[in-house]
Amino acid sequence: MKAWIDIYIGLGSNLDQPLDHVEQAFSTLAQHKHLRNARISPLYQSKPVGPQDQPDFINAVAHAQTQLGPHDVLDLLQSIEQQHGRKRLRHWGERSLDCDLLLYGNANIHTPRLTVPHAHMHERSFVLYPLADLVPQLCFDNGLDFSRFLSRVPFDLEPVKKGI
Ligand code: ADP
Ligand code: MG
Repeated sequence: MKAWIDIYIGLGSNLDQPLDHVEQAFSTLAQHKHLRNARISPLYQSKPVGPQDQPDFINAVAHAQTQLGPHDVLDLLQSIEQQHGRKRLRHWGERSLDCDLLLYGNANIHTPRLTVPHAHMHERSFVLYPLADLVPQLCFDNGLDFSRFLSRVPFDLEPVKKGI
Protein backbone atom coordinates (compact mmCIF):
# COMPACT_ATOMS: atom_id res chain seq x y z
CA MET A 1 0.00 0.00 0.00
CA LYS A 2 1.15 3.51 -0.79
CA ALA A 3 2.52 5.49 2.14
CA TRP A 4 0.72 8.53 3.49
CA ILE A 5 3.00 11.56 3.34
CA ASP A 6 2.82 14.48 5.77
CA ILE A 7 2.45 17.77 3.95
CA TYR A 8 2.50 21.34 5.26
CA ILE A 9 0.85 24.10 3.28
CA GLY A 10 1.24 27.85 3.75
CA LEU A 11 -1.98 29.82 3.22
CA GLY A 12 -2.11 33.59 2.79
CA SER A 13 -4.54 36.25 1.59
CA ASN A 14 -4.80 40.02 1.67
CA LEU A 15 -7.73 40.80 -0.63
CA ASP A 16 -11.54 40.61 -0.40
CA GLN A 17 -12.20 39.22 3.10
CA PRO A 18 -8.83 37.46 3.58
CA LEU A 19 -10.00 35.46 6.58
CA ASP A 20 -12.73 33.83 4.48
CA HIS A 21 -10.29 32.94 1.70
CA VAL A 22 -7.94 31.21 4.13
CA GLU A 23 -10.71 29.36 5.97
CA GLN A 24 -12.44 28.27 2.77
CA ALA A 25 -9.16 27.06 1.28
CA PHE A 26 -8.59 24.99 4.41
CA SER A 27 -12.08 23.57 4.23
CA THR A 28 -11.48 22.55 0.59
CA LEU A 29 -8.28 20.80 1.66
CA ALA A 30 -9.98 19.14 4.64
CA GLN A 31 -12.75 17.75 2.42
CA HIS A 32 -10.50 16.65 -0.42
CA LYS A 33 -10.71 12.93 -1.14
CA HIS A 34 -6.93 12.54 -1.46
CA LEU A 35 -6.12 14.26 1.84
CA ARG A 36 -6.73 13.04 5.39
CA ASN A 37 -6.27 14.29 8.96
CA ALA A 38 -6.20 17.97 7.95
CA ARG A 39 -5.45 20.51 10.68
CA ILE A 40 -4.96 24.25 10.56
CA SER A 41 -2.82 26.47 12.77
CA PRO A 42 -4.12 29.62 14.41
CA LEU A 43 -4.62 32.46 11.93
CA TYR A 44 -2.32 35.47 12.14
CA GLN A 45 -2.27 38.93 10.65
CA SER A 46 1.07 39.93 9.14
CA LYS A 47 2.64 42.90 7.38
CA PRO A 48 3.25 42.36 3.66
CA VAL A 49 6.61 41.17 2.37
CA GLY A 50 7.60 43.19 -0.69
CA PRO A 51 5.52 46.23 -1.70
CA GLN A 52 4.22 47.98 1.44
CA ASP A 53 1.30 49.77 -0.26
CA GLN A 54 -0.97 46.76 0.12
CA PRO A 55 -3.20 45.46 2.92
CA ASP A 56 -1.94 43.23 5.74
CA PHE A 57 -2.15 39.49 5.18
CA ILE A 58 -3.96 36.73 7.00
CA ASN A 59 -1.72 33.67 7.21
CA ALA A 60 -1.94 30.14 8.52
CA VAL A 61 -0.29 26.78 7.96
CA ALA A 62 -2.23 23.59 7.27
CA HIS A 63 -1.07 20.04 7.84
CA ALA A 64 -2.52 16.97 6.17
CA GLN A 65 -1.50 13.56 4.87
CA THR A 66 -1.72 12.46 1.27
CA GLN A 67 -0.80 9.73 -1.16
CA LEU A 68 -0.60 12.21 -4.03
CA GLY A 69 2.79 13.02 -5.54
CA PRO A 70 4.26 16.48 -4.88
CA HIS A 71 3.41 17.87 -8.31
CA ASP A 72 -0.16 16.63 -7.96
CA VAL A 73 -0.33 18.47 -4.64
CA LEU A 74 0.95 21.62 -6.38
CA ASP A 75 -1.72 21.17 -9.09
CA LEU A 76 -4.34 20.92 -6.35
CA LEU A 77 -3.04 24.05 -4.58
CA GLN A 78 -2.96 26.01 -7.83
CA SER A 79 -6.50 24.93 -8.69
CA ILE A 80 -7.65 26.14 -5.26
CA GLU A 81 -5.89 29.48 -5.90
CA GLN A 82 -7.73 29.72 -9.23
CA GLN A 83 -11.08 28.97 -7.57
CA HIS A 84 -10.37 31.94 -5.32
CA GLY A 85 -9.84 34.21 -8.29
CA ARG A 86 -6.07 34.40 -7.92
CA LYS A 87 -4.52 36.70 -10.51
CA ARG A 88 -0.85 37.46 -10.78
CA LEU A 89 -0.75 41.22 -10.17
CA ARG A 90 2.86 41.90 -9.15
CA HIS A 91 5.73 40.02 -7.52
CA TRP A 92 5.09 39.57 -3.79
CA GLY A 93 2.03 41.72 -4.27
CA GLU A 94 -1.56 41.42 -3.14
CA ARG A 95 -3.43 38.18 -3.74
CA SER A 96 -6.80 36.73 -2.91
CA LEU A 97 -5.13 33.42 -2.05
CA ASP A 98 -1.60 32.05 -1.99
CA CYS A 99 -1.12 28.33 -1.32
CA ASP A 100 2.47 27.18 -1.00
CA LEU A 101 3.71 23.66 -0.47
CA LEU A 102 6.13 24.14 2.42
CA LEU A 103 7.12 20.54 3.15
CA TYR A 104 6.33 17.25 1.47
CA GLY A 105 7.41 14.50 3.86
CA ASN A 106 11.19 14.48 3.90
CA ALA A 107 11.54 15.26 0.20
CA ASN A 108 13.98 17.73 -1.28
CA ILE A 109 12.57 18.77 -4.62
CA HIS A 110 14.08 21.07 -7.22
CA THR A 111 12.13 21.15 -10.46
CA PRO A 112 11.15 24.12 -12.63
CA ARG A 113 7.72 24.18 -10.96
CA LEU A 114 8.52 23.18 -7.44
CA THR A 115 11.10 23.85 -4.74
CA VAL A 116 10.53 21.95 -1.49
CA PRO A 117 11.17 22.78 1.30
CA HIS A 118 9.73 26.13 0.19
CA ALA A 119 12.61 28.49 -0.62
CA HIS A 120 11.72 31.27 1.86
CA MET A 121 10.02 29.39 4.65
CA HIS A 122 12.96 29.55 7.08
CA GLU A 123 12.97 33.37 7.08
CA ARG A 124 9.25 34.13 7.31
CA SER A 125 7.59 34.64 10.67
CA PHE A 126 4.14 33.99 9.17
CA VAL A 127 5.29 30.50 8.18
CA LEU A 128 7.55 29.56 11.10
CA TYR A 129 5.24 30.57 13.96
CA PRO A 130 2.08 28.84 12.69
CA LEU A 131 4.22 25.82 11.81
CA ALA A 132 5.49 25.81 15.40
CA ASP A 133 1.86 25.88 16.60
CA LEU A 134 1.27 22.63 14.68
CA VAL A 135 4.65 21.02 15.42
CA PRO A 136 5.94 22.62 18.64
CA GLN A 137 9.42 21.07 18.54
CA LEU A 138 9.77 22.13 14.86
CA CYS A 139 11.77 19.00 14.27
CA PHE A 140 10.63 16.74 11.45
CA ASP A 141 11.16 13.04 10.72
CA ASN A 142 13.69 13.93 8.07
CA GLY A 143 15.90 15.62 10.66
CA LEU A 144 14.97 19.11 9.44
CA ASP A 145 15.14 21.36 12.49
CA PHE A 146 13.50 24.76 12.06
CA SER A 147 13.83 25.76 15.71
CA ARG A 148 17.10 27.64 15.10
CA PHE A 149 15.40 29.64 12.33
CA LEU A 150 12.54 30.49 14.67
CA SER A 151 14.99 31.86 17.23
CA ARG A 152 16.32 34.29 14.59
CA VAL A 153 12.98 35.53 13.28
CA PRO A 154 11.11 37.97 15.55
CA PHE A 155 7.46 37.40 16.37
CA ASP A 156 5.78 40.27 14.50
CA LEU A 157 2.34 38.73 13.99
CA GLU A 158 -1.04 39.53 15.42
CA PRO A 159 -3.05 36.44 16.39
CA VAL A 160 -6.58 36.66 15.00
CA LYS A 161 -8.11 33.23 15.43
CA LYS A 162 -7.47 29.83 17.04
CA GLY A 163 -6.65 26.83 14.86
CA ILE A 164 -8.29 23.39 14.70
P1 ADP B 1 5.08 33.32 -4.14
O1 ADP B 1 4.28 32.29 -3.39
O2 ADP B 1 6.58 33.16 -3.95
O3 ADP B 1 4.63 34.71 -3.89
P2 ADP B 1 3.61 32.50 -6.50
O4 ADP B 1 2.55 32.02 -5.57
O5 ADP B 1 3.20 33.51 -7.53
O6 ADP B 1 4.85 33.08 -5.70
O7 ADP B 1 4.21 31.21 -7.18
C1 ADP B 1 5.04 31.30 -8.28
C2 ADP B 1 5.50 29.91 -8.70
O8 ADP B 1 6.19 29.28 -7.65
C3 ADP B 1 4.41 28.90 -9.05
O9 ADP B 1 4.14 28.97 -10.41
C4 ADP B 1 5.04 27.55 -8.67
O10 ADP B 1 5.27 26.73 -9.79
C5 ADP B 1 6.35 27.94 -8.03
N1 ADP B 1 6.70 27.17 -6.85
C6 ADP B 1 7.94 26.66 -6.62
N2 ADP B 1 7.99 26.02 -5.46
C7 ADP B 1 6.75 26.10 -4.91
C8 ADP B 1 6.20 25.63 -3.69
N3 ADP B 1 6.94 24.93 -2.81
N4 ADP B 1 4.89 25.90 -3.44
C9 ADP B 1 4.15 26.63 -4.33
N5 ADP B 1 4.62 27.10 -5.51
C10 ADP B 1 5.92 26.85 -5.80
MG1 MG C 1 2.77 30.91 -3.89
